[in-house]
Amino acid sequence: MRDFTKTKRIVIKIGTNVLTKNGGVDTKYVQNIARQINALLKTKKQIVIVTSGAIGMGAGQLKIENKTKDTKTKQACAAIGQPLLMAEYKKAFAKYKITAAQVLLTAEVLNNRKTYLNLKGVIETLLKLGVVPIINENDCVSTDEIGTAVKTGFGDNDKLSALVASKIDADALIMLTDIDGLYDKDPKKNKNAKKIPAVYEITKEIVKNAGGSGSRHATGGMKTKIEAAKIAANAGCRMILADGRKKDVIIKIMAGEIIGTIFMPKRKLGNRSRWILNSHPAGTIKLDAGAIKAIENKKSLLPSGIAAVEGTFEKGAVVMLGDKAKAVVNFGSAELKKLAGKHSREIEKLLGKGRKDVVATPEDIVIIN
Ligand code: GLU
Repeated sequence: MRDFTKTKRIVIKIGTNVLTKNGGVDTKYVQNIARQINALLKTKKQIVIVTSGAIGMGAGQLKIENKTKDTKTKQACAAIGQPLLMAEYKKAFAKYKITAAQVLLTAEVLNNRKTYLNLKGVIETLLKLGVVPIINENDCVSTDEIGTAVKTGFGDNDKLSALVASKIDADALIMLTDIDGLYDKDPKKNKNAKKIPAVYEITKEIVKNAGGSGSRHATGGMKTKIEAAKIAANAGCRMILADGRKKDVIIKIMAGEIIGTIFMPKRKLGNRSRWILNSHPAGTIKLDAGAIKAIENKKSLLPSGIAAVEGTFEKGAVVMLGDKAKAVVNFGSAELKKLAGKHSREIEKLLGKGRKDVVATPEDIVIIN
């Protein structure tokens, strides 16, 4: 058995494939979700939904299910489908007198500390009011291409749901999808693939065996789910990957039944470290061997350890330190180019008085592992 008795805040991610049927929302399915969430709310759990399905619904409404390959059409479909999707949730929750709220996000909103704090504030308030926030990516204005599922932004709701779980300090992330867990081999290709009930460490092998991407309107495959599990793990949040069509799946998971695959958290990083780790880097600072050792030993990064600076960024930006770490830097890229390889005492001569004497302090550096 798994124990979720102490779990208070849960993010539930619902994928397009489980939510839609014949080009529209599966109303019965949404009703089912609302019923299960009502049961959890009664036990004083806090629920946040991250839903997909806007593009699929928009395409269904326009009857262009097979013609949504380009980004502009996908964005148009999202604009059409999102209100339809919300209407379904609203209706389903109304049966239990639960109010639902729509929250649309982009990667920038979560990357920027001010807008992220606004978001955190509004979610806390909604939860306090007993409302269920329903989150989706704001696909129409998103700068990250839908379906690319790359490291830069979302483009897929798997990563979005994990970032949300991390940002709002959720205790669990339930990812409802059309696969019933993680397998040791791609189950679509290997008949003897075995399901892995629990993952304690996301090894290179797990990533390699994860298989390809999803289908039609759903963008994420197992790869993006593993990415999501990593983000959740760094936030101390357990992630459960499960078949969203299984009867009473949410209730059963919360009751401790061994369903799907659970990804156990490894370390709980502080809020600021998580923000650094999950931010899209604005550039890269290449370090010499001595500086790499220093940051691994929790020392500050000094200008003398900088070998090269790539990209254009302002002071306070999050940048990569080689491929080893991410950091918030005290200098912009133009300044760092002047400082590269120099001793700290030369900072004043090169940039004027009143500047910090290190490029980044240990608190501003997060090692990626
Ligand atoms: N935001 C997209 C939608 O609502 C879904 C992206 C995904 O499938 O992960 O249609």
